[in-house]
Amino acid sequence: MRVRLEEFTWAEMAKLLKRTPDAIAVLPVGATEQHGPHLPLGTDSINVDALCVQAAQREPDVYVLPCVPYGVSHNHIDFQGTLTLQPETLIAVVVDVIRSLCGHGFRRVLIVNGHGGNNATLDVAAIKARQALPQVLIGHSYSGALAAAAYATHSTSGIYYHSDEGETSETLAIRPDLVQMANARRDVTEPFSAYYHRYYAPSGEMKGLVSYGLPPTICLSTSGIMGDASLASEEKGRRIVEGYLGALVKVLQDLKRLDFTTPLR
Ligand SMILES: [Zn+2]
Repeated sequence: MRVRLEEFTWAEMAKLLKRTPDAIAVLPVGATEQHGPHLPLGTDSINVDALCVQAAQREPDVYVLPCVPYGVSHNHIDFQGTLTLQPETLIAVVVDVIRSLCGHGFRRVLIVNGHGGNNATLDVAAIKARQALPQVLIGHSYSGALAAAAYATHSTSGIYYHSDEGETSETLAIRPDLVQMANARRDVTEPFSAYYHRYYAPSGEMKGLVSYGLPPTICLSTSGIMGDASLASEEKGRRIVEGYLGALVKVLQDLKRLDFTTPLR
C-alpha cells in the first residue's frame, strides 16, 4: 500500500484531500550523525522513516513525508561523517514544510522525531507552526518516548542512551544489513556513567533537575557508543519495534479523534 507522499501525483493528492480532509501528514525527522563503530550514520533517519511508514500502513489515511535527514547533532561533530544544522535552520525547514502542506488542505500534522537532540528544537518548531497556522493540529512525538516502554521491557543493560542495546536491536530488526555486530560493544565510561546516573537513571537523585544542553559525546565516550551494544539482538529489536508501532498508531488515532474545533492554542 502506498503511504509515502512522494509516490503520489499531485492530482491523486488533490482528490485524496478532497475525499479525506482529516488525513494526517507525518513528518519524520532524523539525523546524520555518528552511531558508534557498528551502526550507520543514518541510523536515526533510517529507523524513524521505516517506523512511520509501517505505522501508516496499519492506520488508514496517514501519509508519510520524505524524512528530514539532518538534525541538531553538534554534540557528535567530533566524529567523522556527522552533519549538523543550527536549531534555527531546522525550525525554518519544518515550519516551511508544514506551511506547504496546510496550503494544500492538510489540517492534521504529526512530527515524529527519531533523534533526541532534536527535541527542544522541534518543540519550538511545532509552537511556531501552530502560531502561524492556528487552524491546523500539529503534534510532536519523540521516538525515545514511543519506544520507552518496549526498551524497558526488552533491554537488559538498563541504560537507554545512544547506539546502545535498544537502538542497535531496533536497527537489527529494520536494516540488519547495515549493522556490524562484530564492532558492537559495551562502552560505559566513568564520565558517562556519572552523567547518566545523575541526570537520567531512575535512581539518579538529581534526575531532571537541570539540563546542560547536549554535552559533547567525545567527553563521554571515545567509541560513540553509550550503553551496551553487544547485548543487542534482532529478536529484541522486533519486540521493541512492535511496542514502538503500537504507541505510534495510538498517537495517530488520537490525533484523528481530536475535535478540530477545540481551541488548543
Ligand atoms: Zn540514534
